[in-house]
Amino acid sequence: MSDALCPSCNTNLEKIGDTYACDACKTSYREVIHCPKCDSTVETLKACGAVSYFCNHCNELQSKSSVVRRYVAL
Ligand SMILES: [Zn+2]
Ligand SMILES: [Zn+2]
Repeated sequence: MSDALCPSCNTNLEKIGDTYACDACKTSYREVIHCPKCDSTVETLKACGAVSYFCNHCNELQSKSSVVRRYVAL
């Protein structure tokens, strides 16, 4: 169980590797992370087991809790 929701039916998406699947829609999605300030896609940085997000447009780190997650059909 993840906290990801299907953009078309709002069912919880099942995380499978790097993708997310909706049982109801039979559709796979990938997660795209956007900057909460400028809506650009952010770079995911993984260091020491922690994940942080860097926006090249704002030139600053965005916290995990504030970034916008969208799910795009594959
Ligand atoms: Zn769905
Ligand atoms: Zn930004």
